[in-house]
Amino acid sequence: MSLIPKSHPRAKSLQIRERLVQGFDHGLVAKEGLMAHGRGEAFDYLLGEKTSKSAKNAIKAAALMLLSARSPVISVNGNIAALCPKEIVQLANTVNAKIEVNLFYTNQKRKNNIVKILKKHGVRQVLGTNRNSSRRISGLDSARRVVDKDGIFQADVILIPLEDGDRTLALKKNRKKVITFDLNPLSRTAQTADITIVDNVVRAINGLILECKKSKKKIRKAPFNNKKNLSACVLEIKKNLSRRLPNA
Ligand code: ATP
Ligand code: MG
Repeated sequence: MSLIPKSHPRAKSLQIRERLVQGFDHGLVAKEGLMAHGRGEAFDYLLGEKTSKSAKNAIKAAALMLLSARSPVISVNGNIAALCPKEIVQLANTVNAKIEVNLFYTNQKRKNNIVKILKKHGVRQVLGTNRNSSRRISGLDSARRVVDKDGIFQADVILIPLEDGDRTLALKKNRKKVITFDLNPLSRTAQTADITIVDNVVRAINGLILECKKSKKKIRKAPFNNKKNLSACVLEIKKNLSRRLPNA
């Protein structure tokens, strides 16, 4: 039961934090994941805790990229499994993507917990747990280099929510198209991905599912420039700040 009063001006953000803490108590989230969330919260505060125009623009581009992929894969970590497992499964079903668990702080028990929660939401197969089908991504030292031959290894488009910059760089070097949700427009992941959705994944994922359903009928190519869109996002943050601190 939530202890946050509905009337609290930042109730939504605190409820998201609560969900993550519950995910930690249930063995889904790593301690470090709580801190990564804190970094995200700080940027969300600057964004005004709402989906910006540039995020909507990136969501549209991401939907088209996922729908036109040969073999899209959604990479899931502990934070994502705690925050939006149902939506991950919905998105995978909508764009016909595989789901693979891939953890930075790898731990078999946590992996199993993540698989369990995804299966509870209806997915039949979760990749990333079978040692016999593991392969290595080159140019990466962390545990995240181990991937599934039927999943990330062969994928052309990978959705990597809340990602670490090292892996984003390695995936790009391996010529993968990368889509990410990252609240920090300045992170290495945000700057390296092909499409960066600068928004809280909890808000943006529903928008992405909706956009995929809408675009499914009319896939077309639309130009998207990630660098330009990130600059637009930083301008939006600036405007947001000067609205709140008009004399600064
Ligand atoms: P990078 O390694 O890409 O340079 P980093 O080291 O700053 O990034 P990490 O801890 O590696 O950060 O990755 C976590 C990222 O996830 C952070 O950029 C943080 O802003 C972002 N993040 C955390 N929670 C959320 C959330 N709920 N929605 C979207 N992004 C989030
Ligand atoms: Mg990092």
